[in-house]
Amino acid sequence: MQPGIVSKILYRVAFSVFFMQCESFLEHQHQIPTTPQIRNILDGIPARELFCVFTWIYHRLERDGYLKPYHSLGGHLLVGLNGTQYFTSQTIHCECCSSRTDKNGTITHFHSAILPVIVTPNP
Ligand SMILES: [Zn+2]
Repeated sequence: MQPGIVSKILYRVAFSVFFMQCESFLEHQHQIPTTPQIRNILDGIPARELFCVFTWIYHRLERDGYLKPYHSLGGHLLVGLNGTQYFTSQTIHCECCSSRTDKNGTITHFHSAILPVIVTPNP
């Protein structure tokens, strides 16, 4: 199997986590990796390799009309951004961690993310 094909499969499996509300998910749950397994796979992939996955998903959602109810203000999508930390530790860290040192000299390592959310003023 070509590496590109493996990546495509991994991306699709990884993003299937976001569709857990689908009824068929429960029937196939035993075939889907756990969130920690997916996190371990995705941690080794540079973020720029996921940009095309975002574009692919966005175009499919737009093409199939799922984003139409969210268009507002002249047909635009409004996106709110929220920052969060999804990992923090004073003992465990990696080369990609951000860190902060408090006034007592304690170093806290963390990972953070920006979470975009499509919002609409329409009820
Ligand atoms: Zn880290």
